[in-house]
This record gives sequence, structure tokens and C-alpha cells, in this order.
Amino acid sequence: MAENKKVLIIGGGMSGLTAAIEAAEAGNNAVIVEKTPFLGGRVAQLNKYFPKLCPPNCGLEINFKRMKNNADVTFYTLAEVEKISGEEGNYDVTIKVKPRYVNDKCVGCNACSEACPVEMPNEFNFGLDKTKAAYIAHNQAFPFTYVIDDRHCKGASCAKCVDACKYDAIKLDMKPETVNLNVGAIVLATGWDLYDTSRLDILGAGKIQNVVTNMQMERIASPNGPTAGKILRPSDGKEVKNIAFVQCAGSRDENHLPYCSFICCMASLKQATYLREQYPDSKAQIFYIDIRTPGRYEQFYWKVKDDPNVTLTKGKVAKITEDPSTKDVTVEAEDIIAGKKIKAKFDMVVLAAGMVPSTKNSKISDDISYTPDGFVVPSSLKKGIYAVGTLKSPVDVAKSVQDATGVAIKSIQSARRSK
Ligand SMILES: Cc1cc2nc3c(=O)[nH]c(=O)nc-3n(C[C@H](O)[C@H](O)[C@H](O)COP(=O)(O)OP(=O)(O)OC[C@H]3O[C@@H](n4cnc5c(N)ncnc54)[C@H](O)[C@@H]3O)c2cc1C
Repeated sequence: MAENKKVLIIGGGMSGLTAAIEAAEAGNNAVIVEKTPFLGGRVAQLNKYFPKLCPPNCGLEINFKRMKNNADVTFYTLAEVEKISGEEGNYDVTIKVKPRYVNDKCVGCNACSEACPVEMPNEFNFGLDKTKAAYIAHNQAFPFTYVIDDRHCKGASCAKCVDACKYDAIKLDMKPETVNLNVGAIVLATGWDLYDTSRLDILGAGKIQNVVTNMQMERIASPNGPTAGKILRPSDGKEVKNIAFVQCAGSRDENHLPYCSFICCMASLKQATYLREQYPDSKAQIFYIDIRTPGRYEQFYWKVKDDPNVTLTKGKVAKITEDPSTKDVTVEAEDIIAGKKIKAKFDMVVLAAGMVPSTKNSKISDDISYTPDGFVVPSSLKKGIYAVGTLKSPVDVAKSVQDATGVAIKSIQSARRSK
């Protein structure tokens, strides 16, 4: 009988976790390679996720528990695949693992972070606040082990974190490692990045402080975000009582993203409920081209639409400007249904930015074909290599999980065709 080889999963978001855990629970060895210091991907950055509107942990925690109970799933964080060669059932893979500078003795006490004198932009919060160079991405991170960012850390000349750590967990002399694996199948699950809205001149992203992206809005509303879940605007910390959402900020535009990002309408409807629940006297206005809430999501649209404090305006936004004295934001748009121009003032504006496959800017090192927008062309993949979820098209968590579950079976079949 053929040897039962490992399945390699590149990317540790919901898609990658699902593929790995399903493969392992079916009796196959699975290894995840994740480039950030933690598993969970973008879902970990959401406040709540539809359809159930539960916090990310309700889905992620179950997966982490399944992993802890199954020795057949292992993972590398801060790791990327450098080289792939071979064929179905017999791929040689080279993995580069960056140093974390913190070992398994870390108990997550935060003493290193308190002692660290260096501040850097908080990437997990999309730059809305700062974090230390000795940090943990968020309070539910898995693994719950601190990390030292060597792009900002002053190294041995400072070493205040080393002195502060009572557990001998910090090793500033850790070096990058190379890991070579032989695997039977490979699952590409490297997910998505947010479209860079600063390319949309007229919408003020990056120039107007109270114009934020939809992912920044997720962080602002999250209990473990920069404002501890209180929806406050960035310029002055004022409570946001009047908000606008601008749909298709880049999507469905041949000069930017010539496709629908699938989840942005649902994301804005969801985020309108964050505000409405937090401040009962608040108002939200959603500017849209078409509201797209496929399948059973339509019912969520009806529910939000029935709220008298939520206004849905069909019309493209022409311009967003800032009042320099108050920092309020003015949106100019055409109300197509009423046939008139609108000029309205808001405390904050959220740009519903689309999903861009991570492979648009960072290709996976193998002979893979991509669409002009960076999506993997599945038919171009060699036998035994599979792509899941948002690498093929923008999708939600439910579709990513379904796709990854199917691919887990296919990857096991490939792994069993070992040479
Ligand atoms: C504003 C907004 C709100 C959303 N809200 C919802 C919601 O409420 N409900 C819902 O169902 N969906 C929602 N989504 C969509 C949801 O985020 C995606 O469906 C989900 O993240 C897909 O998971 P994934 O694992 O495919 O990708 P990701 O979550 O992007 O995970 C990919 C992982 O791969 C890692 N990675 C990337 N490149 C490499 C590499 N080269 N090597 C190793 N690792 C790599 C990344 O660090 C990441 O951990 C929302 C999206 C947006 C933009």
C-alpha cells in the first residue's frame, strides 16, 4: 500500500485551518505554514461575522481545540514556502521560518511589552493605534506566545525585554531556520488583502482622518480593538452618531477591481448594526450601486432596511471632503431614485473596500497561472496542488470552509498516491 504522506497547507486562516483539521481528522498528517505570528487569518480581525454574527472566537476557538486534540496537525508561524518541486504524491518543499525571538517558556504575562521602549504602528489594527516591538497581536491569539518585531526592535543594545522576562523566554539571538519537507499534496490557502483605497482619490482615504476602511471599522468595533469596542472616530475620539458607508470603493470598477467583492454589502449592513446597537440614537446611510446579498443573506438585508435610522441611497459617491475645523466629513452623491444631488455631513465615513487575492502582490513560488487580478487559475495547478477560498474568487467564511473541506478529501487522495 502507498505511504500516507503529509498534506502541506499554505496559509492558516479559516480555509487553511479547515483543510488541515479535516485532513488530520480523516487520519492524514497535515502541516500548516503561516506567515504571520498567529493562526486565524482575517477572521481574527473581525468584530463579529455573519451569518450568526458571533465573535471570531466562536469559530476559531473550536478549530484551535480540534488542533490541540489532534497530534496529526502541526504548524509553523512566521513561515513562508520558498520552493516547491516534484509531483503529486511526492513534493519537496523548502520552508523559511523567521525567528520569533520568544520561546515556548512564554506565559503571555506582557512584562516584555511593558519594558519595551519601541513603539510601532499596530498592523493588526490597520495602523489605527500603536503597539510595542515586543507584542502579541491580540488577546485571543493562537499560539499565545509573544513575538519581537525585528524590523523595529533595537536588539541586544537595548534588551530591556530580556531583563523583564522572569521565564527566560526571550532569545534575541534566534536565527532564521530552513525546514525541508516531503509532502504528498499542497493546499494553497493564502487568502486576501484589502484593496488599497488610497488609490481612490475622490474618496479621501489616507487623507481624511475620519474616512476609514471597512476592516478598520471591524477593529474599531472590536472589544480587543484600539478603542476597546467603543465606536469613536479617529480624529478626536468623538462618539460616532452619524455614519456613511460607501459601497464598491474600488470594486466593480474597471480601473480598480473589475469584479464584485461579494461580501462588502453584507459587511456594511452588519457594521450599520454595530453602530445602531451601540448608540440607539445613531443614524447610518449606505450609498450603493446595487445591494448584493446573495442567498439567505437577503433576510439580513430586509432586517437592516426596516430600521428607520438606516437609509439606503442608490447612487455613486462623487466626492468626499473634510471640514478642517470640525473634522466632519461631507459626502456628495447622486440619489438616482429621487433624481437629485445630495450633500450630507457625517461624523465618520466607511469605505467598503474589496478583497484582493494575496497572490496579486505576493506570488506563490511555483509554476501557477493567475488572472490579471491575481486570482489563481485552478486549471493551471499541477496534480496534487489545490487552491481554496478567496484565492479563486472573493467569498465568505461559509463558502471558504465548504471549499476547504472538499479540498481536504482531494488532498488526502493525492497524498495516498505517493511514489
Ligand atoms: C470588511 C470585511 C468584513 C467581512 N465580514 C465577514 C463576515 O461577517 N462573515 C463572513 O463569512 N465573511 C466575512 N468577510 C470575508 C472573510 O474575511 C473571508 O471569507 C475569510 O477571511 C476567508 O478566509 P481565508 O482563510 O480564505 O483567508 P484569510 O482570512 O485571508 O487567511 C489567509 C491566511 O494566509 C496567510 N498567508 C497569506 N500569504 C501567505 C504566505 N505567502 N505564506 C503563508 N501564509 C500566508 C495569512 O496571513 C492568513 O493567515 C469579511 C471581509 C471583509 C473585507
